[in-house]
Amino acid sequence: MSQPSSSSRIALVTGGIGGLGTEICRQLAGAGRRVVAVDLAARSERVDAFHAEIAAFNGDITFEPADVSDFDDCARLIARIEESHGSVDVLVNAAGITRDASLRKMTPQQWHELMRVNLDGVFNMCRNVVEGMAARGFGRIVNISSVNGQTGQFGQTNYSAAKAGVHGFSMALARETARKGVTVNTVSPGYCDTPMVAAVPEDIRARIIADIPVGRLGSPADIARAVAFLSADDAGYITGVNLPVNGGYFMSF
Ligand code: NAD
Repeated sequence: MSQPSSSSRIALVTGGIGGLGTEICRQLAGAGRRVVAVDLAARSERVDAFHAEIAAFNGDITFEPADVSDFDDCARLIARIEESHGSVDVLVNAAGITRDASLRKMTPQQWHELMRVNLDGVFNMCRNVVEGMAARGFGRIVNISSVNGQTGQFGQTNYSAAKAGVHGFSMALARETARKGVTVNTVSPGYCDTPMVAAVPEDIRARIIADIPVGRLGSPADIARAVAFLSADDAGYITGVNLPVNGGYFMSF
């Protein structure tokens, strides 16, 4: 099967209009990918703002609505993109939500809503692209986890479980696809300067920053750089890894 040139490869970024997703789209487009940002149509104000931002950016970025928690919606999305753009070569799963509460107060709804987006969403997207990638002999999948999936966080049993699960998923799928030219890796951001972290109360945010050896929150560009690195054509010997990008917040062997 003929390989597209690296510059014409299609990259799909879920959560693509979010704080990190938007910058990931920009950097992948900057690297010559044709980028499709996938996110909820219901966030119409942000969708409009995103369209305005990408109009000002010199790169090939388009928007497609989909709900990653809905398997059939993901299947329809991939079919649509394959028809309009061609095959999906790079998939970045960045869609995510929080539903914080200590376990004693967490409702089954908070648990399940989070799992449906943060973990089922990764399955729903990967399941729909992986066969095509393997058949074509090329694919790059990057799943966005979190430092809190490695350390645990108070009030986030659901989020920490899902994010730890994301890397287990990456490692297992990496083994299944290693001989097919498809790499699967995880990027685990630390605390970043995005609306998700801006929502944390000021005093707690100050304490978090004091604990980061580098002395600042991460920028979306810090995270996007790691995603671009792992999804590059010549990153084929790196698979099943978890790349923490957290300013030294959490270190381990
Ligand atoms: P964000 O809230 O700005 O972006 C998340 C995006 O996901 C949003 O645009 C949202 O609309 C989209 N989304 C939510 N549910 C969806 C669904 N069902 N289908 C499709 N899209 C959906 O958050 P962010 O800071 O950009 O986070 C991106 C990823 O990075 C998330 O997975 C998050 O857990 C992870 N993360 C973020 C930080 C941080 O400091 N911001 C740290 C660690 C990990």
